[in-house]
Amino acid sequence: MFEEAKRKYLLEHGHARFCPKVALIDMDGVLFDSMPNHAKSWLKVLSDNGIVIEEKEAYMHEGRTGRGTIEILYRRFFHREPTDEEVQDLYYRKATLFDSLPEAKVMNGAKEALDAIRDFGMNRILVTGSGQKLLLGRIEKFFPGHFTTERMVTAFDVKQGKPFPEPYLKGLEKGNAQPFEAIVIENAPLGVQAAKAAGVFTVAVNTGPLDDQVLYDAGCDVLLHSMGELATSLPLIATPFSLKNDE
Ligand code: MG
Repeated sequence: MFEEAKRKYLLEHGHARFCPKVALIDMDGVLFDSMPNHAKSWLKVLSDNGIVIEEKEAYMHEGRTGRGTIEILYRRFFHREPTDEEVQDLYYRKATLFDSLPEAKVMNGAKEALDAIRDFGMNRILVTGSGQKLLLGRIEKFFPGHFTTERMVTAFDVKQGKPFPEPYLKGLEKGNAQPFEAIVIENAPLGVQAAKAAGVFTVAVNTGPLDDQVLYDAGCDVLLHSMGELATSLPLIATPFSLKNDE
């Protein structure tokens, strides 16, 4: 049932075959159910600064650097760029509030999905825009053996975060894979855009409040609704596919 998506992907990108050996996996909203806490923290510190946005907008900015989000909102609300002090102060307060909230739980089905990826013989690489040290530290605790430090791309490794392709290009490099040898697992529109810009087959898992259409518009190749669904569908999604065999 995923063959049509694979065929479309190959034609679009000019590759002859799709043979994934690496999964590039986002963290927030994919491995941890951390997006409600992120959204809550952003809404609170922004409104303290006179910037009132809807909750859904916080989800639309997911994956962007803190600075990038703050700049966009300052332009819209105050018609000017924020100063460096304003960016640092706001982001510091957001991160502090986030760290003070109850720990985000592991996303339902995430462990099973990672196991399914491993059992299919694929490497796992974490690709996150997050620089939240607490969450990154919890990766080994909750997903032991799946990610080593060499198999992580975080906010500290990239100059231009999502929606730019750099995080996923770095992920391909770390996984020693060509774009047609990988899949991306993403929940956010900007993350899907970044993955597509890197030329990788992108599986969107819509774990948040956004409409599916937002993720389709961002360019995902396949859309699922839970990590549990990914665990079940992974063997079908990752089965190699070649245009030649198809003729
Ligand atoms: Mg995410």
